[in-house]
This record gives sequence, C-alpha cells and structure tokens, in this order.
Amino acid sequence: MIRMLCPEPQNFSEKGLAYAKSKVEFTSQQINQAEFELRAPEFEAVLIRFNTQVGSKVMGKNSNLKSVLSPTTGLDHIDFDAAKNHNVDIFHLKGQKKFLNSISGTAEHTIALMLALLRKIPSSFEAFKTGQWEQGSFRGREVSGKTLGIVGYGRLGKKVARIGLAFGMKIAVYDPYIDSFPKNTISYKSFFNLLPEIDILSIHVPLLVETKHLIGLREIELMKPGSILINTSRGDVVSTQALIKALQSGHLAGAALDVIDREHCIEKEGHPLIAFAKDNDNLLVTPHIGGSTYESVEKTDLFILKRFFQSI
Ligand code: NAD
Repeated sequence: MIRMLCPEPQNFSEKGLAYAKSKVEFTSQQINQAEFELRAPEFEAVLIRFNTQVGSKVMGKNSNLKSVLSPTTGLDHIDFDAAKNHNVDIFHLKGQKKFLNSISGTAEHTIALMLALLRKIPSSFEAFKTGQWEQGSFRGREVSGKTLGIVGYGRLGKKVARIGLAFGMKIAVYDPYIDSFPKNTISYKSFFNLLPEIDILSIHVPLLVETKHLIGLREIELMKPGSILINTSRGDVVSTQALIKALQSGHLAGAALDVIDREHCIEKEGHPLIAFAKDNDNLLVTPHIGGSTYESVEKTDLFILKRFFQSI
C-alpha cells in the first residue's frame, strides 16, 4: 500500500484528510521543514501546501518519493527540475482552468484587503477596543471611479477585474502573454505605461525568474503619488526594501499584502515588515490566507487527491 505523508495537516480539510486516509497508509503530522526533509524519503507520496518546500533533498536514489500532491496554483515551493531528474510526478492545480473557475477565495481576499486598507478597518477596530468612538482620523477613500491596475490577467486577475467593475472602477490591465482583453478594460502593452495611470495596483502573476522584484523602486516611482499596492501573488514579486521606502516617504499611501518574501523564515528570523507594521497603519498584512477558505480548501484537496488516485 502507498505510504503518504502530510506534514502540514492544519492546512487541509477534514474531508480531504479522511479521504486520503481511506485510500493509503496515511501519516499526517505537523512537522517543520527540517523534520520533513528527514522523514519524506520514507514515503512514496507527500501531500503538501506552500508551507513545505520540496526539493532534491527528499528525492533521489535513497528516497521512495514518487509523487508530490500540492493543491495549489503557485508552485515555487517545488523544485520541478529535481522532480524531473528523479521521475517524481507533481500533482498540482496550475492550468486546471475549468475546475479553478469555481475557486474564488483569493480574488475575494484581494478585494477585502483593498477595502480594509482604504477604509482603515483594522486601525478603527483597534481604536474601538480602547473605547474610542470617533470618525475623523478614520476617514477613508472610495474605490468607485478609481482606476484599478491589474498585472497578470489570468484566473485571479480576471476575477478581481470583474469585481472591480461591479464597484464602478476603471480597469487597466497588463499581461504580455494575452492577446485580447475585454472591451471594458484598458490594456497596456508596456507595464511602464500602465503604472502612472492607475490608483491601485493589484498583482496576480506567478513567481518566475522574470517576475522576481517585478515591482521595485523604479516601478513604484512611476506610480502616482498616493496610490496603493495590493499583493496576493507571491512575496518575492515585490521588493520589500523598495516597498518600505515608498511607504515611509508617503509616495505610496498604503500597501496590503497576503504574501511577503521569506515567509518560511518569519517565525525564526522576524521580518522588516513586522517592525514597520508596528509603527505604521498604512500597511496591512495577512499570513497567506487568500486561498484559505473552508470552501476552497475542501474542493482543492478532493480534486488533487482524486486526480492522484485516478492515475495509480
Ligand atoms: P494564472 O496562471 O491563471 O494567471 C497568471 C497570469 O500572469 C497569466 O495570465 C500570465 O500570462 C501572467 N503573467 C506571467 N508573467 C507575467 C509578467 N511578467 N507580467 C504580467 N503578467 C504575467 O494564475 P492565477 O490562478 O491567476 O494565480 C496567480 C498567482 O497568484 C499564482 O501564481 C500564485 O502564486 C498566487 N496565488 C496566491 C494565493 C494566495 O493564497 N494568496 C492563492 C492562489 C494563487
């Protein structure tokens, strides 16, 4: 019987874990990256999300690992070259267009972050907890009539654009890999031409060599003073140093992030954005919970497990 290890069961649904348990010899145990690297080679399959990195340390001639199941669209936590070299199959969600249409968690979270930041929801609630009931310092900004720039017009970019239109926003898009865009969007062939035209930038690209630090000092400087940045894609797409500088100077009025660079090291090493957030309320960060809804987690768990079991 296949042995499968799940090193981050808290990130899976009860139904998904029960289904896996009914089909394989299943070990689900919360373990850290170092423990995972020690234990994974005993197993034929691992069931992970993005909190576990899978690379050459767990593959190869001393490893039983043959399948990696990751119900995610972002795949930068998996070393595909090593997997190919060692004949390890990766089961993931990227490109599963029809199925992914029903998965809306991250698009909804993007909008939640945008509105929470612009309407100062976190800081006004903090003030309420201290007994304050005033409006003046929590005057916010509306999205209606503003231009929402979307970089990466794939599944999430499209969903966010549709919601933005429903809010009365103008939608400007940049995606060099797409030829035609809907008439109700303004498309740009150059990212540098889009940046000065928008009020809010929302990022929906995968993390690739070409998208690392896609947003750096030069790009932020091209944005209008007072504009805001939303990132729910991957942390390394934005330069943290450039972002902090722009928030400190006020060139960016705010930023809301669901992803940051070095997410895997935060608990051990801290992060400059934590220090910044303690003293500034123009930054809002959530801990990579975009896709973490009961609906999305259960549907994606079952989808990826079924695909795996159909293949064996
Ligand atoms: P997708 O593949 O459907 O869309 C990505 C789009 O980015 C594509 O249309 C592609 O052409 C475009 N793109 C690639 N390189 C580009 C570049 N240099 N400039 C502009 N556009 C470029 O992916 P998706 O499902 O929309 O997800 C996007 C990303 O969001 C994922 O790769 C993942 O990293 C991230 N994500 C985060 C969460 C979360 O929990 N926060 C959840 C799901 C996905």
